[in-house]
Amino acid sequence: MTSSEYGTGDYGTGRTEAYMGTGAEGQRDTGSDAAGADPMNTLERVAHLVRNCTDCPLSRGRTNAVPGEGNPQAEVMFIGEGPGFQEDRLGRPFVGPAGKLLDGLLASMGVVREDVFIANMVKCRPPDNRDPAPAELAACTKYLDRQIELVNPKLIVTLGRFAFGRYFPGEGITKARGKLREKDGRKIFPVLHPAAVLRREELRPTMIEDFKAISEILEGGTEDTGMAPGIMMPEAPQTAQLSFVDAPGQAAVSTPPAETPTVNVDEASRPEQLSLF
Ligand code: URA
Ligand code: SF4
Repeated sequence: MTSSEYGTGDYGTGRTEAYMGTGAEGQRDTGSDAAGADPMNTLERVAHLVRNCTDCPLSRGRTNAVPGEGNPQAEVMFIGEGPGFQEDRLGRPFVGPAGKLLDGLLASMGVVREDVFIANMVKCRPPDNRDPAPAELAACTKYLDRQIELVNPKLIVTLGRFAFGRYFPGEGITKARGKLREKDGRKIFPVLHPAAVLRREELRPTMIEDFKAISEILEGGTEDTGMAPGIMMPEAPQTAQLSFVDAPGQAAVSTPPAETPTVNVDEASRPEQLSLF
């Protein structure tokens, strides 16, 4: 671990005021001062606060809060909606059926969960998987705000309409998906929610296209301020990608590293993927 950006607070002890992380200081440098006094100075501290949070009614129904997890210096961060049954049970994001699909899509990019950061809009499961309420989203956003600051990803991929709505409220995800956007100095790439793809199989080729585009954005270097050509994906899925969906034994798209396991997005249980974290 090299980075000085994610300092653990051994320096800069001059200031003692607490940072409450309410967003007013949103663009501040992270961790370079008042480090010891900042309750959300590290991802671990954010997770600790989340696990003890009672700031909205969702706290009452949870088994486990799901703070999020991944590489603290990830280039790409995925934002989902909120924990489902399995996530609530295990305290980890995207470990149910939608998570299996996400794992497969990540593998198609040649990455594993440890490479990215995965978080949700709300950290506690809404009862019966209902939509999170506006007040719940508002109460919880401080944690995600801080996670984004701390990870400082080059690209944020929003999964589904709630995460998309964080950046572009009122717009439709169906129209917006698959197109790189910028908001508040961050690159945002909206895609469908994996659970929606599981409900409607006809959306799967679109989802695969969009994940291929994510690879291309990352490979193309997100330093470019312009919208790189090639991210406007054609509507028609390519044969090779379709066969990746239909015939799991075949090689995945876009030259995954040799150690990447064969992709099988349909198989219900992949213990080796489950145990990646
Ligand atoms: N759906 C989400 O939005 N998030 C999860 O963590 C799991 C399913
Ligand atoms: Fe706190 Fe967020 Fe859980 Fe609500 S959903 S109790 S704000 S962590």
